[in-house]
Amino acid sequence: MEYAASRLKVVRPSASAAVSLNAQALKAEGHDVIDLGLGEPDFATPEHIVTAAHQAALSGKTKYPPTQGTLDLRAAVQAKFKSDNALDYATDEIIISNGAKQVIFDAFMATLEPGHEVLLCAPYFDSYKNIVLVIGGKPVVVPCAEHNGFRLTAELLEQSITQSTRWIILNSPSNPAGAIYTREDLQAIGEVLARHPQVLVLSDEIYEHIIFDGGVAHSFAAVCPALADRILTVNGVSKAYAMTGWRIGYGAGPKPLIDAMIKVQSQISSGACSIAQAAAVAALNGPQASVTLFREAFERRRNLVVDKVAGIDKLSLYPPGGAFYALIGCKDLLGATAPDGSVINDDTDVAKYLLNEVKVASVPGSTYGVSPFFRLSTATSDTLLAEALNRISAGVAKLRF
Ligand code: PMP
Repeated sequence: MEYAASRLKVVRPSASAAVSLNAQALKAEGHDVIDLGLGEPDFATPEHIVTAAHQAALSGKTKYPPTQGTLDLRAAVQAKFKSDNALDYATDEIIISNGAKQVIFDAFMATLEPGHEVLLCAPYFDSYKNIVLVIGGKPVVVPCAEHNGFRLTAELLEQSITQSTRWIILNSPSNPAGAIYTREDLQAIGEVLARHPQVLVLSDEIYEHIIFDGGVAHSFAAVCPALADRILTVNGVSKAYAMTGWRIGYGAGPKPLIDAMIKVQSQISSGACSIAQAAAVAALNGPQASVTLFREAFERRRNLVVDKVAGIDKLSLYPPGGAFYALIGCKDLLGATAPDGSVINDDTDVAKYLLNEVKVASVPGSTYGVSPFFRLSTATSDTLLAEALNRISAGVAKLRF
């Protein structure tokens, strides 16, 4: 019996979730696995946020919330955009969803016709591609060079746009490369887009607070205000406030686009969890000290990984400017022979080898449209991270070339 519809054949389940399941299975068998697959902060949600959720539940905020999101949360998001990003959105230009992921789904479901192209800057967050595919759009991968920090250039963009291009997704800081776009980068991209009025821009800014070396995350809509009626700014509380499980993301853009997204969401999930929305209000309006603490911890870990990888012959790392991943280059491992006699042919083999031989779970770069690389999440304790890199070093040393 074939249950899945044909449109699902092109969709890959979340690779990082699959890696984590594998890692958990090995752990259940008693193996000491370090799981650097999944992208989620290892910190607990700050207590004042949890308390706000508790109070919301006790005070009866347990009914269906509005599909678009509670006015309290949309007002908090509005204030956040104003103070952090110098963006002016009305509360009816904002939608709250079950994570940023659903904001992205709503947007593409609302706007993509069959054959519409969505430009993805590789390496890209794999859900972008799979969401586009399940909806029947056409992902178009634009490879962004490592020596340019994995950033899209105006030239590459110009070459990639066709009459069928409907969206371009920008993601800064990016998952998985930690690419950061400067104001000048975004201005140059904006100049190209000004010549192509059919193209909408999804600016995924979910890692904006996780940025290193005193860098600044620029919001595309703030840099290119002339394009405001074509920009959907996407963000959420998952990464900044260690709230991945609460499932609250938000999007802001022109009202007709937001209205179309509300229509999608109204038939899929309705409003996001009322209690989680109250928690997100506390996150956005409350003390921000934890955001700084998290950022500092992620920067320390980025430095740790950069140092360790520099000491491993045959691996390379373009230092990530933000987010909590390390996209490690492993082209010098291809063709090597493992102790069991198997040959490493691609980055999937590298990730499998590291899991089986030294029990470190990572995600192959092919997942993100770039090879040969593997991605480590640095969202784990400094001690475990150092141990993982020591193990990887030992694993590489066991290969025969
Ligand atoms: N965008 C990017 C770039 C991400 O890495 C992630 C999470 N891995 C998301 C969006 C989705 O986040 P959320 O938990 O808000 O759905």
